[in-house]
Amino acid sequence: MGDEHVVVIGGGIAGVTAALACADAGRNVTLLEARKVLGGRVSSVTHPRTGWELDNCQHACFRVYDRFMQLVGRTKGQDAIKLQARTVLPFASPATGEFANLASGRLSPPNHLIGSMLSFPFLSFKDKLAMRKAVKRLANMKHADIWALDGMPFRTWLTEQGQTDQAINRFWSFFVLAALNIDLDEASAAQACMLFNKGLFGDADAFDVGAFTSHLSESFHPAYLEALDQAGVQVRLNTSAKGIEHENGAPTSVRLAKESIACTDVIFTTPHHITARLLKASNLEEKSALIERNINSMDYRPLIGIHSFYRGNRVPEDFTFAVMIDEPLIQIIFNRNAELDQPVEEGVQWLSIPVSSAVPFMGMEDDEILAELDRVLDALWPEQTNVKRFEHLIIKTPKATFAPTPGSAEGRPPADAISERIALGGCWTKTDWPSTMEGATRSGLQAAAHILKRTYSTDDAWPEWPSRPARREPGWRVWE
Ligand SMILES: Cc1cc2nc3c(=O)[nH]c(=O)nc-3n(C[C@H](O)[C@H](O)[C@H](O)COP(=O)(O)OP(=O)(O)OC[C@H]3O[C@@H](n4cnc5c(N)ncnc54)[C@H](O)[C@@H]3O)c2cc1C
Repeated sequence: MGDEHVVVIGGGIAGVTAALACADAGRNVTLLEARKVLGGRVSSVTHPRTGWELDNCQHACFRVYDRFMQLVGRTKGQDAIKLQARTVLPFASPATGEFANLASGRLSPPNHLIGSMLSFPFLSFKDKLAMRKAVKRLANMKHADIWALDGMPFRTWLTEQGQTDQAINRFWSFFVLAALNIDLDEASAAQACMLFNKGLFGDADAFDVGAFTSHLSESFHPAYLEALDQAGVQVRLNTSAKGIEHENGAPTSVRLAKESIACTDVIFTTPHHITARLLKASNLEEKSALIERNINSMDYRPLIGIHSFYRGNRVPEDFTFAVMIDEPLIQIIFNRNAELDQPVEEGVQWLSIPVSSAVPFMGMEDDEILAELDRVLDALWPEQTNVKRFEHLIIKTPKATFAPTPGSAEGRPPADAISERIALGGCWTKTDWPSTMEGATRSGLQAAAHILKRTYSTDDAWPEWPSRPARREPGWRVWE
């Protein structure tokens, strides 16, 4: 084992996970990251006028992110996260000014949201009655039942369960949009059913929402760097891999711009279009061509992060977040101040609005987007219209996440798709999970397990790492 040297390409969540898991098992590991920080797509940007560090886009996590929470525990990153101790999902209607919560109650899943659902004003009695049938069906689905639906659009499945248009538009659609970053009409029924089966209607605490207590790079990079360093991983930032050399599928080195690193094993954790390019540059024969074809057929969906800043409270200080009913662009509003340990500046309120599956909005000018935001804020909080925005930043990410369209599960290669000593990781590989921090963590563990020759299913905890926290677990922060 002493001569074995694993090179992990990519320092996003998948790469950090894979590197730590391999190092914990005694391997010599080098991690290559093209950028100057670890965390990949979970990253910050510097605001050009104020110098503030801002998230590329609001990121949310959930208690059901079992492996991601294990990674947080392993990297001692608990301080960077606050988790609800009870699922509370606030909704608001700019058209009527009404607010209402869906929240977990005393009944066991999948009925834990029923109490709040009964008084939920945005759905009719008929909608709710029809939803009971679909919820029961979802909760009882087994893994094979779910993935047998991959070729079916989710709307078809919902229609078969008798869902009304209003229930689809006001309930099912938001969760698909936010968690899968895809319009419900384009989504694979399997991927959507998996989301509701494991998430909203899974364990009673599954959908407890988590928020990050500082800007994203600060929440991740320092904790990752320290954990990797202590595990003995050599981390090389600002270092891009150009390809690998191999003999019959066994890697001998990773090529950089001016040198090569000798190695025995390689784990790719780069996004799928980059992995395709690197595989091509590595001259990896027939099998790589097949994988390239598959991964090239996986489409991306964009996300837009709207950041808006006020001197004073444009929304009440204790407002956390709310899903907007019947709003295509301003889908959800987060009060980032309610999450952060420190505001970006004393007295400044930061509102953060992620726009999922943002295809129709990518061409909009900033002014048009901000006018929409103002309309929604004015409708919901008319008494605070005197608090004006003095700064903003709108960030458009065209290749944010892969699109789980009908049939897409077929195109996701498993960790062992290339060879015994080359593993594939990254949120787009075969994990059952959508393109999320949880999917990325799971893929990193699968890739490490392949290199370590361990039999492992990502539905099992990674045995050496701390387990995911229960509600109010000591050492973990609560989002009150
Ligand atoms: C705007 C936005 C909002 C999101 N919101 C959420 C959310 O709220 N909740 C959620 O769970 N998920 C969210 N996601 C998805 C989540 O961030 C990703 O699924 C996850 O972070 C992907 O991790 P990864 O490690 O697979 O890939 P990446 O994060 O893409 O990491 C790959 C790394 O490889 C590096 N790299 C590329 N080429 C090379 C090379 N040649 N050599 C060395 N390194 C290289 C890159 O710089 C990068 O750091 C969001 C994503 C985006 C973009």
